[in-house]
Amino acid sequence: MSQLYRALPSVDRALDALAEYAPAAPRKGEVALAALPRALVREHVNGFLDVCREEIREGVYNAPEQLSLQALLPRMAAHVRAASRPHFRRVLNGTGVVVHTNLGRSLLADVAVEAVREACAHYSNLEFDLATGERGSRYSHVERILCQVTGAEAGLVVNNNAAAVMLVLDTLCKGREVIVSRGQLVEIGGSFRIPEVMEKSGARLREVGATNRTHLRDYENAITEETAALLRVHTSNYRIVGFHKEVTLDEMVALGRKHGLPVLEDLGSGSFHDFTALGLGDEPTVQQVVAAGPDVVTFSGDKVLGGPQAGIIVGRKEWIDRIKKNPMNRALRIDKMTLAALEATMRLYVDPELARRSIPTLSMVTATAEELRRRARRLAGRISRDLGEAFTVTMQDGASRVGGGSFPERDLRTTLVRVTPRDFSATELKQRLLDTDPPLVGRLEEDAFCLDPRTLSDGEFPLVSMALEQAATR
Ligand SMILES: *Cc1c(COP(=O)(O)O)cnc(C)c1O
Repeated sequence: MSQLYRALPSVDRALDALAEYAPAAPRKGEVALAALPRALVREHVNGFLDVCREEIREGVYNAPEQLSLQALLPRMAAHVRAASRPHFRRVLNGTGVVVHTNLGRSLLADVAVEAVREACAHYSNLEFDLATGERGSRYSHVERILCQVTGAEAGLVVNNNAAAVMLVLDTLCKGREVIVSRGQLVEIGGSFRIPEVMEKSGARLREVGATNRTHLRDYENAITEETAALLRVHTSNYRIVGFHKEVTLDEMVALGRKHGLPVLEDLGSGSFHDFTALGLGDEPTVQQVVAAGPDVVTFSGDKVLGGPQAGIIVGRKEWIDRIKKNPMNRALRIDKMTLAALEATMRLYVDPELARRSIPTLSMVTATAEELRRRARRLAGRISRDLGEAFTVTMQDGASRVGGGSFPERDLRTTLVRVTPRDFSATELKQRLLDTDPPLVGRLEEDAFCLDPRTLSDGEFPLVSMALEQAATR
Protein backbone atom coordinates (compact mmCIF):
# COMPACT_ATOMS: atom_id res chain seq x y z
CA MET A 1 0.00 0.00 0.00
CA SER A 2 2.86 2.40 0.79
CA GLN A 3 4.04 1.80 -2.78
CA LEU A 4 0.67 3.02 -3.99
CA TYR A 5 0.84 6.18 -1.84
CA ARG A 6 4.31 6.89 -3.24
CA ALA A 7 3.02 6.53 -6.80
CA LEU A 8 0.76 9.59 -6.35
CA PRO A 9 2.12 12.64 -8.21
CA SER A 10 3.29 15.70 -6.26
CA VAL A 11 1.04 18.77 -6.24
CA ASP A 12 3.55 20.81 -8.26
CA ARG A 13 3.89 18.19 -10.97
CA ALA A 14 0.12 17.87 -11.11
CA LEU A 15 -0.28 21.64 -11.45
CA ASP A 16 2.18 21.81 -14.34
CA ALA A 17 0.57 18.87 -16.08
CA LEU A 18 -2.90 20.39 -15.66
CA ALA A 19 -1.77 23.68 -17.18
CA GLU A 20 -0.65 21.78 -20.29
CA TYR A 21 -3.63 19.44 -20.34
CA ALA A 22 -6.21 22.17 -19.92
CA PRO A 23 -6.38 23.83 -23.35
CA ALA A 24 -7.42 20.67 -25.16
CA ALA A 25 -9.71 19.44 -22.46
CA PRO A 26 -12.68 21.71 -21.83
CA ARG A 27 -15.87 20.54 -23.40
CA LYS A 28 -18.10 23.15 -24.96
CA GLY A 29 -19.34 25.51 -22.24
CA GLU A 30 -16.73 24.63 -19.66
CA VAL A 31 -14.23 27.01 -18.10
CA ALA A 32 -10.60 26.49 -19.17
CA LEU A 33 -8.41 25.49 -16.23
CA ALA A 34 -5.70 27.86 -17.37
CA ALA A 35 -8.07 30.76 -16.69
CA LEU A 36 -8.37 29.86 -12.99
CA PRO A 37 -6.10 31.34 -10.27
CA ARG A 38 -3.24 28.93 -9.53
CA ALA A 39 -3.80 29.10 -5.76
CA LEU A 40 -7.37 27.93 -6.27
CA VAL A 41 -6.31 25.10 -8.59
CA ARG A 42 -3.67 24.06 -6.03
CA GLU A 43 -6.31 23.79 -3.32
CA HIS A 44 -8.54 21.62 -5.50
CA VAL A 45 -5.62 19.42 -6.65
CA ASN A 46 -4.88 18.82 -2.96
CA GLY A 47 -8.54 17.92 -2.49
CA PHE A 48 -8.34 15.49 -5.39
CA LEU A 49 -5.18 13.83 -4.03
CA ASP A 50 -6.96 13.40 -0.68
CA VAL A 51 -9.74 11.59 -2.51
CA CYS A 52 -7.13 9.30 -4.12
CA ARG A 53 -5.53 8.54 -0.73
CA GLU A 54 -8.93 7.64 0.62
CA GLU A 55 -9.47 5.32 -2.37
CA ILE A 56 -6.09 3.67 -1.76
CA ARG A 57 -7.17 2.99 1.83
CA GLU A 58 -10.39 1.51 0.54
CA GLY A 59 -8.47 -0.83 -1.78
CA VAL A 60 -9.65 0.71 -5.05
CA TYR A 61 -6.23 0.37 -6.73
CA ASN A 62 -3.89 -2.60 -7.09
CA ALA A 63 -1.03 -1.27 -9.29
CA PRO A 64 1.06 1.93 -9.07
CA GLU A 65 0.49 2.65 -12.80
CA GLN A 66 -3.16 3.35 -12.02
CA LEU A 67 -1.97 6.34 -9.98
CA SER A 68 0.42 7.84 -12.52
CA LEU A 69 -0.09 11.44 -13.50
CA GLN A 70 -1.07 10.30 -16.98
CA ALA A 71 -3.76 7.97 -15.64
CA LEU A 72 -5.17 10.48 -13.14
CA LEU A 73 -5.12 13.59 -15.31
CA PRO A 74 -8.61 13.42 -16.91
CA ARG A 75 -10.32 12.80 -13.57
CA MET A 76 -8.20 15.41 -11.85
CA ALA A 77 -9.11 18.01 -14.47
CA ALA A 78 -12.80 17.19 -14.10
CA HIS A 79 -12.53 17.39 -10.30
CA VAL A 80 -10.78 20.77 -10.38
CA ARG A 81 -13.26 22.15 -12.88
CA ALA A 82 -16.25 20.99 -10.87
CA ALA A 83 -14.79 22.20 -7.57
CA SER A 84 -13.99 25.67 -8.88
CA ARG A 85 -17.45 26.42 -10.23
CA PRO A 86 -19.41 28.99 -8.24
CA HIS A 87 -21.86 27.26 -5.93
CA PHE A 88 -24.81 29.47 -6.89
CA ARG A 89 -25.26 29.12 -10.63
CA ARG A 90 -27.51 29.53 -13.59
CA VAL A 91 -29.55 26.46 -14.55
CA LEU A 92 -31.77 25.69 -17.54
CA ASN A 93 -35.39 25.11 -16.53
CA GLY A 94 -36.88 22.48 -18.81
CA THR A 95 -39.58 21.50 -16.32
CA GLY A 96 -42.35 23.73 -17.66
CA VAL A 97 -43.06 24.96 -14.12
CA VAL A 98 -42.94 28.73 -14.62
CA VAL A 99 -42.78 29.98 -11.03
CA HIS A 100 -40.43 27.25 -9.80
CA THR A 101 -39.52 28.13 -6.22
CA ASN A 102 -36.47 25.83 -6.19
CA LEU A 103 -35.15 27.35 -9.42
CA GLY A 104 -35.53 30.98 -8.39
CA ARG A 105 -39.23 31.71 -9.07
CA SER A 106 -39.64 34.65 -11.48
CA LEU A 107 -37.19 35.93 -14.08
CA LEU A 108 -37.07 39.70 -14.31
CA ALA A 109 -38.06 41.75 -17.35
CA ASP A 110 -35.11 43.33 -19.19
CA VAL A 111 -35.95 46.81 -17.91
CA ALA A 112 -35.97 45.47 -14.34
CA VAL A 113 -32.57 43.81 -14.82
CA GLU A 114 -31.21 47.10 -16.17
CA ALA A 115 -32.71 48.99 -13.21
CA VAL A 116 -30.97 46.61 -10.77
CA ARG A 117 -27.66 47.13 -12.53
CA GLU A 118 -28.09 50.91 -12.39
CA ALA A 119 -29.08 50.79 -8.70
CA CYS A 120 -26.11 48.73 -7.57
CA ALA A 121 -23.42 50.22 -9.81
CA HIS A 122 -24.11 53.82 -8.81
CA TYR A 123 -25.24 56.01 -5.91
CA SER A 124 -28.96 56.73 -5.93
CA ASN A 125 -31.69 58.71 -4.20
CA LEU A 126 -32.59 55.60 -2.16
CA GLU A 127 -33.39 57.62 0.98
CA PHE A 128 -32.79 61.10 -0.33
CA ASP A 129 -35.50 63.55 -1.34
CA LEU A 130 -34.36 65.29 -4.52
CA ALA A 131 -37.03 68.00 -4.07
CA THR A 132 -35.70 69.17 -0.69
CA GLY A 133 -32.16 67.78 -0.58
CA GLU A 134 -33.02 66.12 2.72
CA ARG A 135 -33.55 62.61 3.96
CA GLY A 136 -36.31 60.79 2.11
CA SER A 137 -38.11 57.46 2.40
CA ARG A 138 -37.13 54.36 0.44
CA TYR A 139 -40.79 53.37 0.23
CA SER A 140 -41.70 56.55 -1.64
CA HIS A 141 -40.27 55.06 -4.85
CA VAL A 142 -42.87 52.33 -5.16
CA GLU A 143 -45.84 53.43 -3.09
CA ARG A 144 -47.40 55.65 -5.72
CA ILE A 145 -47.10 53.13 -8.55
CA LEU A 146 -48.46 50.36 -6.28
CA CYS A 147 -51.49 52.51 -5.50
CA GLN A 148 -51.92 53.47 -9.14
CA VAL A 149 -51.93 49.86 -10.36
CA THR A 150 -53.87 48.24 -7.48
CA GLY A 151 -56.27 51.07 -6.68
CA ALA A 152 -55.27 50.95 -2.97
CA GLU A 153 -54.92 54.05 -0.74
CA ALA A 154 -51.45 53.21 0.54
CA GLY A 155 -48.79 50.53 0.43
CA LEU A 156 -45.36 49.34 1.50
CA VAL A 157 -42.99 46.54 0.62
CA VAL A 158 -40.99 44.15 2.81
CA ASN A 159 -38.62 41.22 2.28
CA ASN A 160 -41.21 38.61 1.23
CA ASN A 161 -44.85 37.76 1.71
CA ALA A 162 -44.24 35.65 4.81
CA ALA A 163 -42.66 38.76 6.36
CA ALA A 164 -45.60 40.84 5.16
CA VAL A 165 -48.13 38.57 6.91
CA MET A 166 -46.07 38.54 10.10
CA LEU A 167 -45.66 42.32 10.11
CA VAL A 168 -49.36 42.97 9.51
CA LEU A 169 -50.41 40.63 12.32
CA ASP A 170 -47.76 41.97 14.68
CA THR A 171 -48.94 45.52 14.09
CA LEU A 172 -52.69 45.03 14.17
CA CYS A 173 -53.29 41.91 16.25
CA LYS A 174 -50.46 41.34 18.74
CA GLY A 175 -51.76 39.85 22.01
CA ARG A 176 -55.28 39.63 20.61
CA GLU A 177 -57.25 37.22 18.47
CA VAL A 178 -57.41 36.78 14.71
CA ILE A 179 -60.30 34.78 13.36
CA VAL A 180 -59.42 32.44 10.48
CA SER A 181 -61.13 29.51 8.77
CA ARG A 182 -59.75 26.01 9.45
CA GLY A 183 -59.83 25.40 5.69
CA GLN A 184 -57.27 28.19 5.23
CA LEU A 185 -54.56 27.14 7.68
CA VAL A 186 -52.21 26.22 4.88
CA GLU A 187 -48.62 25.10 4.65
CA ILE A 188 -46.85 27.01 1.91
CA GLY A 189 -43.80 24.87 1.23
CA GLY A 190 -40.57 24.23 3.09
CA SER A 191 -42.76 23.16 6.06
CA PHE A 192 -43.74 26.76 6.48
CA ARG A 193 -47.18 27.03 8.00
CA ILE A 194 -49.48 30.00 8.28
CA PRO A 195 -50.47 29.16 11.89
CA GLU A 196 -46.80 29.12 12.92
CA VAL A 197 -46.09 32.47 11.27
CA MET A 198 -49.08 33.89 13.08
CA GLU A 199 -47.93 32.59 16.44
CA LYS A 200 -44.54 34.24 15.92
CA SER A 201 -46.30 37.54 15.44
CA GLY A 202 -47.83 37.24 18.89
CA ALA A 203 -51.38 37.15 17.54
CA ARG A 204 -53.66 34.39 18.84
CA LEU A 205 -55.32 32.21 16.26
CA ARG A 206 -59.04 31.69 16.64
CA GLU A 207 -59.89 28.87 14.25
CA VAL A 208 -63.46 28.56 13.04
CA GLY A 209 -65.44 26.20 10.82
CA ALA A 210 -64.42 22.78 9.58
CA THR A 211 -61.68 21.82 7.11
CA ASN A 212 -64.10 21.71 4.21
CA ARG A 213 -66.81 24.17 5.23
CA THR A 214 -66.85 27.50 7.01
CA HIS A 215 -69.94 29.73 7.21
CA LEU A 216 -70.35 33.44 7.90
CA ARG A 217 -72.05 32.65 11.21
CA ASP A 218 -68.92 30.76 12.32
CA TYR A 219 -66.93 33.99 12.10
CA GLU A 220 -69.71 36.08 13.64
CA ASN A 221 -70.12 33.73 16.62
CA ALA A 222 -66.39 33.86 17.33
CA ILE A 223 -66.20 37.65 17.57
CA THR A 224 -65.53 38.93 21.13
CA GLU A 225 -63.78 41.97 22.71
CA GLU A 226 -60.57 40.00 22.20
CA THR A 227 -60.95 39.99 18.41
CA ALA A 228 -58.46 42.19 16.54
CA ALA A 229 -59.14 41.19 12.93
CA LEU A 230 -60.67 38.75 10.46
CA LEU A 231 -58.14 37.01 8.23
CA ARG A 232 -58.58 35.25 4.91
CA VAL A 233 -55.69 33.19 3.54
CA HIS A 234 -55.73 32.33 -0.12
CA THR A 235 -55.40 28.55 -0.34
CA SER A 236 -53.21 29.06 -3.34
CA ASN A 237 -51.34 25.77 -3.42
CA TYR A 238 -54.21 23.28 -3.26
CA ARG A 239 -57.89 23.02 -4.04
CA ILE A 240 -60.70 21.41 -2.17
CA VAL A 241 -63.22 19.89 -4.54
CA GLY A 242 -66.61 18.55 -3.59
CA PHE A 243 -68.60 19.48 -0.47
CA HIS A 244 -66.90 22.75 0.27
CA LYS A 245 -67.74 26.28 1.36
CA GLU A 246 -65.69 29.35 2.20
CA VAL A 247 -67.10 32.77 3.03
CA THR A 248 -66.62 35.24 0.17
CA LEU A 249 -64.52 38.36 0.51
CA ASP A 250 -67.60 40.54 0.08
CA GLU A 251 -69.33 38.82 2.99
CA MET A 252 -66.22 39.15 5.15
CA VAL A 253 -65.86 42.85 4.36
CA ALA A 254 -69.50 43.45 5.31
CA LEU A 255 -69.02 41.52 8.58
CA GLY A 256 -65.85 43.46 9.39
CA ARG A 257 -67.65 46.78 8.81
CA LYS A 258 -70.58 45.73 10.98
CA HIS A 259 -68.26 44.97 13.92
CA GLY A 260 -65.63 47.63 13.29
CA LEU A 261 -62.91 45.00 12.65
CA PRO A 262 -60.22 45.13 9.96
CA VAL A 263 -60.37 42.42 7.29
CA LEU A 264 -56.97 41.09 6.20
CA GLU A 265 -56.47 39.14 2.98
CA ASP A 266 -53.29 37.12 2.39
CA LEU A 267 -53.41 36.56 -1.35
CA GLY A 268 -50.12 34.68 -1.56
CA SER A 269 -49.56 34.84 -5.28
CA GLY A 270 -51.24 38.10 -6.19
CA SER A 271 -51.64 38.65 -9.90
CA PHE A 272 -52.26 41.89 -11.77
CA HIS A 273 -52.92 40.08 -15.01
CA ASP A 274 -56.33 38.54 -15.65
CA PHE A 275 -55.66 34.90 -16.53
CA THR A 276 -59.31 33.81 -16.86
CA ALA A 277 -59.04 33.79 -20.68
CA LEU A 278 -56.48 30.98 -20.35
CA GLY A 279 -58.97 28.77 -18.56
CA LEU A 280 -56.99 29.07 -15.34
CA GLY A 281 -60.10 29.36 -13.22
CA ASP A 282 -61.60 32.51 -11.82
CA GLU A 283 -58.93 33.78 -9.45
CA PRO A 284 -59.52 37.50 -8.89
CA THR A 285 -56.73 39.95 -9.71
CA VAL A 286 -55.21 42.12 -6.98
CA GLN A 287 -57.15 45.08 -8.42
CA GLN A 288 -60.45 43.18 -8.05
CA VAL A 289 -59.58 42.11 -4.50
CA VAL A 290 -58.65 45.65 -3.46
CA ALA A 291 -61.88 46.97 -5.00
CA ALA A 292 -63.89 44.57 -2.80
CA GLY A 293 -62.71 46.67 0.17
CA PRO A 294 -60.58 44.60 2.57
CA ASP A 295 -58.44 46.71 4.92
CA VAL A 296 -55.07 45.11 4.18
CA VAL A 297 -53.97 42.83 1.31
CA THR A 298 -50.61 41.01 1.17
CA PHE A 299 -48.96 39.17 -1.75
CA SER A 300 -45.58 38.08 -3.16
CA GLY A 301 -43.48 40.07 -5.60
CA ASP A 302 -41.92 37.03 -7.29
CA LYS A 303 -44.83 34.69 -7.88
CA VAL A 304 -47.16 35.47 -10.81
CA LEU A 305 -46.48 39.18 -10.47
CA GLY A 306 -43.13 38.35 -12.10
CA GLY A 307 -40.92 40.73 -10.12
CA PRO A 308 -38.20 40.38 -7.47
CA GLN A 309 -38.63 38.58 -4.13
CA ALA A 310 -40.74 40.93 -2.02
CA GLY A 311 -43.82 41.05 0.18
CA ILE A 312 -46.26 43.72 -0.90
CA ILE A 313 -48.74 45.20 1.55
CA VAL A 314 -51.51 47.49 0.28
CA GLY A 315 -54.67 48.80 1.88
CA ARG A 316 -56.26 51.59 3.87
CA LYS A 317 -53.95 54.42 4.80
CA GLU A 318 -54.71 54.34 8.54
CA TRP A 319 -53.53 50.73 8.83
CA ILE A 320 -50.62 51.04 6.42
CA ASP A 321 -49.35 54.07 8.38
CA ARG A 322 -49.34 52.00 11.57
CA ILE A 323 -47.57 49.13 9.82
CA LYS A 324 -44.89 51.49 8.49
CA LYS A 325 -44.14 52.70 12.03
CA ASN A 326 -43.69 49.19 13.47
CA PRO A 327 -39.98 48.75 14.42
CA MET A 328 -40.18 45.24 12.99
CA ASN A 329 -40.56 46.88 9.57
CA ARG A 330 -36.95 48.05 9.82
CA ALA A 331 -35.78 44.47 10.22
CA LEU A 332 -37.76 43.28 7.22
CA ARG A 333 -36.95 46.07 4.83
CA ILE A 334 -36.05 45.53 1.17
CA ASP A 335 -32.73 46.51 -0.36
CA LYS A 336 -32.13 48.91 -3.23
CA MET A 337 -31.88 46.17 -5.86
CA THR A 338 -35.30 44.83 -4.98
CA LEU A 339 -36.71 48.33 -4.99
CA ALA A 340 -35.25 49.04 -8.43
CA ALA A 341 -36.55 45.77 -9.89
CA LEU A 342 -39.97 46.19 -8.33
CA GLU A 343 -40.49 49.75 -9.52
CA ALA A 344 -39.41 48.84 -13.06
CA THR A 345 -41.75 45.80 -13.08
CA MET A 346 -44.69 47.77 -11.68
CA ARG A 347 -44.25 50.48 -14.31
CA LEU A 348 -44.80 47.87 -17.02
CA TYR A 349 -48.19 47.05 -15.50
CA VAL A 350 -49.48 50.52 -16.34
CA ASP A 351 -49.87 49.07 -19.86
CA PRO A 352 -51.26 45.51 -19.46
CA GLU A 353 -50.22 44.36 -22.95
CA LEU A 354 -46.69 45.69 -22.48
CA ALA A 355 -46.57 43.82 -19.15
CA ARG A 356 -47.72 40.59 -20.81
CA ARG A 357 -45.06 40.82 -23.48
CA SER A 358 -42.12 41.94 -21.39
CA ILE A 359 -42.49 40.22 -18.02
CA PRO A 360 -41.10 36.69 -18.57
CA THR A 361 -43.44 35.04 -16.05
CA LEU A 362 -46.48 36.47 -17.86
CA SER A 363 -45.25 35.70 -21.36
CA MET A 364 -44.37 32.13 -20.37
CA VAL A 365 -47.74 31.53 -18.70
CA THR A 366 -49.68 33.07 -21.60
CA ALA A 367 -47.70 31.39 -24.42
CA THR A 368 -50.20 29.70 -26.74
CA ALA A 369 -50.28 25.97 -27.51
CA GLU A 370 -49.47 26.71 -31.20
CA GLU A 371 -46.49 28.88 -30.29
CA LEU A 372 -45.19 26.16 -27.96
CA ARG A 373 -45.63 23.48 -30.62
CA ARG A 374 -43.57 25.58 -33.06
CA ARG A 375 -40.87 26.15 -30.45
CA ALA A 376 -40.84 22.47 -29.46
CA ARG A 377 -40.30 21.58 -33.13
CA ARG A 378 -37.35 24.00 -33.30
CA LEU A 379 -35.82 22.61 -30.10
CA ALA A 380 -36.31 19.00 -31.21
CA GLY A 381 -34.82 19.82 -34.63
CA ARG A 382 -31.79 21.40 -33.07
CA ILE A 383 -31.14 18.46 -30.71
CA SER A 384 -31.50 15.84 -33.46
CA ARG A 385 -29.30 17.85 -35.81
CA ASP A 386 -26.55 18.29 -33.20
CA LEU A 387 -26.86 14.99 -31.36
CA GLY A 388 -28.86 12.56 -33.50
CA GLU A 389 -26.21 9.89 -32.93
CA ALA A 390 -26.63 9.92 -29.18
CA PHE A 391 -30.35 10.58 -28.72
CA THR A 392 -33.72 9.81 -30.29
CA VAL A 393 -35.87 12.94 -30.22
CA THR A 394 -39.66 12.99 -30.49
CA MET A 395 -42.49 15.32 -29.51
CA GLN A 396 -45.61 14.66 -27.46
CA ASP A 397 -48.55 16.64 -26.07
CA GLY A 398 -48.16 17.51 -22.41
CA ALA A 399 -49.00 19.96 -19.64
CA SER A 400 -47.10 22.75 -17.90
CA ARG A 401 -47.85 24.24 -14.50
CA VAL A 402 -47.74 27.85 -13.35
CA GLY A 403 -46.17 26.83 -10.01
CA GLY A 404 -45.40 28.94 -6.94
CA GLY A 405 -48.64 27.78 -5.42
CA SER A 406 -50.60 29.62 -8.11
CA PHE A 407 -53.52 28.09 -9.95
CA PRO A 408 -53.21 24.66 -8.28
CA GLU A 409 -54.19 21.64 -10.35
CA ARG A 410 -54.63 23.79 -13.45
CA ASP A 411 -52.71 22.56 -16.45
CA LEU A 412 -51.52 24.62 -19.38
CA ARG A 413 -51.30 22.81 -22.73
CA THR A 414 -47.83 22.40 -24.16
CA THR A 415 -45.70 20.23 -26.44
CA LEU A 416 -42.90 18.29 -24.77
CA VAL A 417 -39.62 17.35 -26.41
CA ARG A 418 -38.81 13.78 -25.46
CA VAL A 419 -35.10 12.96 -25.45
CA THR A 420 -34.14 9.27 -25.26
CA PRO A 421 -30.46 8.33 -24.94
CA ARG A 422 -29.41 5.44 -27.18
CA ASP A 423 -26.85 4.04 -24.74
CA PHE A 424 -28.19 4.68 -21.25
CA SER A 425 -31.44 5.22 -19.35
CA ALA A 426 -33.61 8.32 -19.06
CA THR A 427 -33.09 8.33 -15.29
CA GLU A 428 -29.35 8.31 -15.86
CA LEU A 429 -29.71 11.21 -18.32
CA LYS A 430 -31.70 13.25 -15.81
CA GLN A 431 -28.98 12.63 -13.23
CA ARG A 432 -26.06 13.45 -15.57
CA LEU A 433 -27.69 16.72 -16.66
CA LEU A 434 -27.45 18.03 -13.09
CA ASP A 435 -23.69 18.11 -13.50
CA THR A 436 -23.36 19.81 -16.89
CA ASP A 437 -22.43 23.42 -17.61
CA PRO A 438 -25.04 24.79 -17.29
CA PRO A 439 -27.08 22.13 -15.50
CA LEU A 440 -30.34 21.26 -17.27
CA VAL A 441 -33.37 20.33 -15.16
CA GLY A 442 -36.05 18.36 -16.96
CA ARG A 443 -38.71 15.91 -15.92
CA LEU A 444 -39.46 12.23 -16.33
CA GLU A 445 -42.86 11.45 -17.85
CA GLU A 446 -43.68 7.76 -18.04
CA ASP A 447 -39.98 6.88 -17.85
CA ALA A 448 -39.02 9.29 -20.64
CA PHE A 449 -36.89 12.39 -20.17
CA CYS A 450 -38.87 15.44 -21.35
CA LEU A 451 -38.17 19.12 -21.86
CA ASP A 452 -40.91 21.75 -21.92
CA PRO A 453 -40.13 24.70 -24.23
CA ARG A 454 -42.41 26.95 -22.13
CA THR A 455 -39.65 27.65 -19.61
CA LEU A 456 -36.69 27.61 -22.02
CA SER A 457 -36.03 30.71 -24.11
CA ASP A 458 -35.01 30.45 -27.78
CA GLY A 459 -31.61 31.81 -26.79
CA GLU A 460 -31.19 28.85 -24.44
CA PHE A 461 -31.75 26.15 -27.09
CA PRO A 462 -28.01 26.02 -28.01
CA LEU A 463 -27.19 25.66 -24.29
CA VAL A 464 -29.66 22.78 -24.00
CA SER A 465 -27.90 21.08 -26.88
CA MET A 466 -24.53 21.74 -25.24
CA ALA A 467 -25.65 20.27 -21.89
CA LEU A 468 -27.03 17.17 -23.63
CA GLU A 469 -23.75 16.74 -25.51
CA GLN A 470 -21.83 16.89 -22.23
CA ALA A 471 -24.19 14.34 -20.70
CA ALA A 472 -23.78 12.00 -23.68
CA THR A 473 -19.98 12.07 -23.53
CA ARG A 474 -19.65 11.68 -19.77
C1 LIG B 1 -46.40 31.89 -1.10
C2 LIG B 1 -47.33 32.30 -0.01
C3 LIG B 1 -46.85 32.99 1.12
C4 LIG B 1 -45.39 33.29 1.29
O1 LIG B 1 -44.90 34.16 0.34
P1 LIG B 1 -43.31 34.33 0.16
O2 LIG B 1 -43.19 35.50 -0.75
O3 LIG B 1 -42.84 33.04 -0.40
O4 LIG B 1 -42.75 34.61 1.51
C5 LIG B 1 -47.75 33.36 2.10
N1 LIG B 1 -49.06 33.09 1.99
C6 LIG B 1 -49.56 32.42 0.92
C7 LIG B 1 -51.02 32.14 0.86
C8 LIG B 1 -48.71 32.01 -0.12
O5 LIG B 1 -49.19 31.36 -1.17
